[in-house]
Amino acid sequence: MDLSKDIVVAKFGGTSMADAAAISQSAKVALQNNVSLVVVSAASGTTNKLVELTTTDQSQTNTLIDQIIANHRQIATELAASQGILDDLEALFEELKQAVGSKDSNDAAGADSILAFGELLSSNLMIAAFEQQNVSAELLDVRKVLKTDDHFGQATPLIRETKEAATAIKPSLNNGKILVTQGFIGSAPDGATTTLGRGGSDYSAALLAEAIEADKLQIWTDVAGIASTDPRITADARQIKQLTFQEAAELATAGARVLYPRTITPLRRSKIPLFVGNTFEPEQGGTTIVDTTDDQPRVRAIALKTNQSILKLTTPEMAHQFGYLAKVFDIFAQFKVSIDQISTSEISIAVVLDDQTLLNQDLINSLEDMGEVSIEGDLSIISLIGNKINDSPGLIQDIFGNLESDNAKISVKMICQGASQHNLCFLVSDEYGQDTVKRLHQNFIET
Ligand code: ASP
Ligand code: MG
Repeated sequence: MDLSKDIVVAKFGGTSMADAAAISQSAKVALQNNVSLVVVSAASGTTNKLVELTTTDQSQTNTLIDQIIANHRQIATELAASQGILDDLEALFEELKQAVGSKDSNDAAGADSILAFGELLSSNLMIAAFEQQNVSAELLDVRKVLKTDDHFGQATPLIRETKEAATAIKPSLNNGKILVTQGFIGSAPDGATTTLGRGGSDYSAALLAEAIEADKLQIWTDVAGIASTDPRITADARQIKQLTFQEAAELATAGARVLYPRTITPLRRSKIPLFVGNTFEPEQGGTTIVDTTDDQPRVRAIALKTNQSILKLTTPEMAHQFGYLAKVFDIFAQFKVSIDQISTSEISIAVVLDDQTLLNQDLINSLEDMGEVSIEGDLSIISLIGNKINDSPGLIQDIFGNLESDNAKISVKMICQGASQHNLCFLVSDEYGQDTVKRLHQNFIET
């Protein structure tokens, strides 16, 4: 029998770190769940201010820095932080001022070293919250463990190096110590501070859970898990109890804002279950994401992503040509534009892009060299996430039957099906997006 206790990693998001009461509550939740490694986001609003600091001119910087300092000082005071922590915070404030003073606004490395302060500060506050509850927790500078490449602003983690570095912290975890560390940031091979991209703390937590071979990961946020659809669209949205990694991966990229999309990859790879719950109402339960679930409904969740466009490129010469699509995709790659959905006919290709992307006239010009371009904007992608999507006779009829009827008259602009057993998506005008989701939710989830 294995008597060693489970190693639990828990991540607390920005709203769970927003003020002294929230941070205290987060520490309580961590203690109730026997968490060994606590990963924190910046206090909500802080990273936005830091982003502003990297772009704004001199006249604004003092105000922004003062706001950040005042906010963190106040939280520290309310948590009755020890002198040691207060001194560490003051030292970080000085470092932040220096980093801002010496920044070169076009320098991505400089920007990342400024953005890192949100998490560097909040992790100290979390230590204070534990101390207030008479628990001693130890601060871990995550840059010693989470190794990345040097793609500043959107760094890619180096999995092997991170695992190697993590062996150094395993003894403390096995000895029952609580470690508190930062999400979102890492370090490049030369030691420079990097960030994983906005919202990346979830991903950090998953990478760390993998690196220390944790038994489970918990992500604590301000909603009780993942809902069957956005509760702002229909009050009948319900908590999903269990979800597979594959469904969760599809859902995270389909517009559901609960998880940072890349979070699932390390968990699925290492089969580490993830629980998502509400810090402020832990008794509400949450969503557990696992390898295989007890049930496999055809449709488990429905997501909506608005402000999308379809760009169509038409060339009669495309028929039976080889290499044409490669050339088209190469143009998108050159402009660093990611394409989410595609559909093709013999002479045209349609791709789905954010409305924003189409403001890039250089991209459009390059595509026009390849053929005739037409654009339809203000569209919504509706994604149905579930199972056996391609092996469910009658599913298509059930989906579109009541949308394209006389009473609804919702026309479907494009459909993507076949690539995944877990996702079917289609586009309608933005004006019908919510109505479409409501109808589908009623048909597939409420009954
Ligand atoms: N603090 C970072 C952000 O706001 C990372 C995170 O919260 O996940 O983007
Ligand atoms: Mg976040």
